[in-house]
Amino acid sequence: MAQIHQLDSVLADQISAGEVVERPASVVKELVENAIDAGSTQIDIAVEDAGLKQITVIDNGNGIPADEVELAFLRHATSKITKRQDLFQVVTLGFRGEALPSIVSVADVTMQTAIRDQPGTWIHVKGGKILAKKTAESRQGTKVTVNDLFFNTPARLKYLSSVQTELAAITDIVDRLALSHTQIAFSLTSNGRELLHTAGNGNLKQVISAIYGINAARQMVSFAKEDNDFKVSGFVSLPKLTRASRNYVSFLLNGRYVKNNRLSRALIAGYGSKLMVGRYPLAVIEIKLDPLLVDVNVHPTKQEVKISKEDQLCELLSASVYQRIAQENLIPDALSNL
Ligand code: ADP
Ligand code: MG
Repeated sequence: MAQIHQLDSVLADQISAGEVVERPASVVKELVENAIDAGSTQIDIAVEDAGLKQITVIDNGNGIPADEVELAFLRHATSKITKRQDLFQVVTLGFRGEALPSIVSVADVTMQTAIRDQPGTWIHVKGGKILAKKTAESRQGTKVTVNDLFFNTPARLKYLSSVQTELAAITDIVDRLALSHTQIAFSLTSNGRELLHTAGNGNLKQVISAIYGINAARQMVSFAKEDNDFKVSGFVSLPKLTRASRNYVSFLLNGRYVKNNRLSRALIAGYGSKLMVGRYPLAVIEIKLDPLLVDVNVHPTKQEVKISKEDQLCELLSASVYQRIAQENLIPDALSNL
């Protein structure tokens, strides 16, 4: 056996990339979250062959200053938190400083980025190594192009599902990001074909319509309710509109799409006996709470979170959905505001 030694940083990044970058959809998620954190109002995503050949994300956010570009690719390098207390009040989607180093450790990446009124930077990083960097004129914002994902991790590449499944995972995550950020205009294209386009005008119902279709959107009703700690609002489908899976439910916690079984059950409980067994509603549920009440540092992908006073939140959700559905039964559809 060899002596104990610290792994070189590229190898260490590749190991942690296993957690952050599971599949092309994880790369899309991380890049788009960075674009959102950068204050973008427009984010355009393009994938070729479900992202295995290429993923491009273009934003019009803050950009990265020329002297910080290399830093962005280092592990645990972030502009989003600085001190311990920040960890308990995370207001950005990212904060671990892991995504870019993880992605570049398993792909061939170029980034073009510029802050306002400054010359931009173009950088090429492959397998964790910076291959080239130069000054490049560009407008404010950032464009990241990821080629040949998993080129140096053949096992990971082999383990991926079909192109259709990987593309479905990409569409799914972009849909949730668009639902959670209605003020941002998103577009997603796959091999040149546009799959999603949102206006970025803050209208959640329009985004729902773009994703689930106008007929589904018409059968969803808005609700809002709050208590001292939580504010829940959004759109839920009337009991006659259901699906055979829970995939059409999104919980958006302070703008972060999260998965949470207890919230899911609370939503369904709100329908009482109105849903058939094995049928699930469509719903987009925004939850606003003090960041101190949620711990997002549970898992590298941050889709699982710990919520304090979860029981109270579940009760609030069930009650508000129950009331809204009951109310709708009293108002004929033609007269409701659909
Ligand atoms: P994190 O998002 O957790 O901070 P990342 O590795 O995803 O870590 O990104 C590292 C840093 O690079 C970010 O903190 C941010 O300062 C910068 N960055 C990454 N992508 C963008 C972008 N699209 N626009 C502006 N800055 C970015
Ligand atoms: Mg990030």
